[in-house]
Amino acid sequence: MTNRRDFLKRASALTLGALFMDGMVSKANAAENNVMAGGPLGLQTYSLGRELSADVPAGLKKIKECGYSYVELAGYREGNIGQIPVADYKKMADDAGLQIISSHLTPTVRGQYTKDNIEQIKDFWKKATEDHNKMGVQYMVQPSLPQCNSQEDAQYVGEVFNAAGEISKAGGIQFGYHNHNYEFNRLTPGGTEPITFAIRNYRPPQGEPMPKTVEEIFIESTDPSKVIFELDCYWTVMGGQDPVEWINKYADRIQMLHIKDRLILGDSGMMNFEQIFKAFYNHNHKYFFVEIEDINSGKQFERIKASADYLNARGFVK
Ligand code: MG
Repeated sequence: MTNRRDFLKRASALTLGALFMDGMVSKANAAENNVMAGGPLGLQTYSLGRELSADVPAGLKKIKECGYSYVELAGYREGNIGQIPVADYKKMADDAGLQIISSHLTPTVRGQYTKDNIEQIKDFWKKATEDHNKMGVQYMVQPSLPQCNSQEDAQYVGEVFNAAGEISKAGGIQFGYHNHNYEFNRLTPGGTEPITFAIRNYRPPQGEPMPKTVEEIFIESTDPSKVIFELDCYWTVMGGQDPVEWINKYADRIQMLHIKDRLILGDSGMMNFEQIFKAFYNHNHKYFFVEIEDINSGKQFERIKASADYLNARGFVK
């Protein structure tokens, strides 16, 4: 007679058998295609330089063929992405089957942010929000650093980011900031120049605390409901920091990543992508963008394809 325990035993064996078979099947498929199952991949379109701008409709289709499903744009200027009006660009992305999630853009004000130019900066973000809504973009990200020589400078930039975040949020778009390596410079109160990240083993004068990095000041001086951070993992390493520590320390603030290496992902051996993705997913974040610089190589499509293959083959992406 079959009792409940026997039934459960048999059921478990069947379930395990089914799972095992599933595993075998997907392994066989993976071997055949040389890929493991993985989630959608994002690409920062800056990576392609002229190889994309020469023929945008064809280039966007090629991005899709290389294995990417969504993009972060670069090159916004007064209603256009490069030379193409935003609404037309959106249509081209739709035709290619690519979703535009994010966009990199920088206010036309260069140098230092001050009370004299803040209105100009706000006007930039108002117009940008209108334009980006025509593309259904979820994030607008500032990718470059205004002048910051002191802790006070960086705190003021934080206030400007809050203003940008408030404007974009009112239009339904999330504002964010993307780092390079200079954000790991340290700034002192009343300072006249940064303490560069390139000075290894810097120690403050006895009794004084370690000065904060630009990135820390930005994170701590901005409103979490208005400003998020996109961590460029490669530039974080180049700034002498561990991206995994940053992703864990600021789990709620760092919500997107740039996945980048010296060139093709995985080639340098200096980026621990497995741990980076693990930490990122651990905090329930989703969007990342592969990025490859050296954009005049003439081999950019080849490189973004090799990078997609690298991520897929290792199964890092959920
Ligand atoms: Mg980047």
